[in-house]
Amino acid sequence: MSDESANLEDLGINDEEMNTYMESLKTGIGNPARQICICGHSLSRHTKSEVSGYCNVAKAWCDCSEPMSVLEPEDLRTFVFSTSGVGKKHALAKGLYALRKNGKTARWLIERLCFRCGAEGRTVFPTALTRDKRIARGSGHTNALLCESCVNALGGYPTYY
Ligand SMILES: [Zn+2]
Ligand SMILES: [Zn+2]
Ligand SMILES: [Zn+2]
Repeated sequence: MSDESANLEDLGINDEEMNTYMESLKTGIGNPARQICICGHSLSRHTKSEVSGYCNVAKAWCDCSEPMSVLEPEDLRTFVFSTSGVGKKHALAKGLYALRKNGKTARWLIERLCFRCGAEGRTVFPTALTRDKRIARGSGHTNALLCESCVNALGGYPTYY
């Protein structure tokens, strides 16, 4: 037996880096496998190619070209819905609803402000957008959180759809 103490440095590990990594396993921050994209599907199920990106959860109806982590849920399995409109009709809302119904929680990984006007402290509606940044009635090319006046400005009505 050697009396030489085993240090992390012996394994090529920097103490600081290891702290950050272990913390990320606990919190999920920096761990995309546990995060939900703004399209309402698991971040780890996206493919990015040179020309376009898409979401593998639902290739047929999710053309998410700008993936972004927004939620970290206790369970990823409810985030499999399609988007059919603004707010409650968006896949993100449906997934979160199903999660809460199962008695589980999620936390936001982003500040909840309107992506368009930057307003804070208002209700923001998950919204699918077309290529020309109008409200999409189905799944979008991109997705955003928008306040009610921005949803209206882009041609949608969050409270009626
Ligand atoms: Zn996505
Ligand atoms: Zn998606
Ligand atoms: Zn706004």
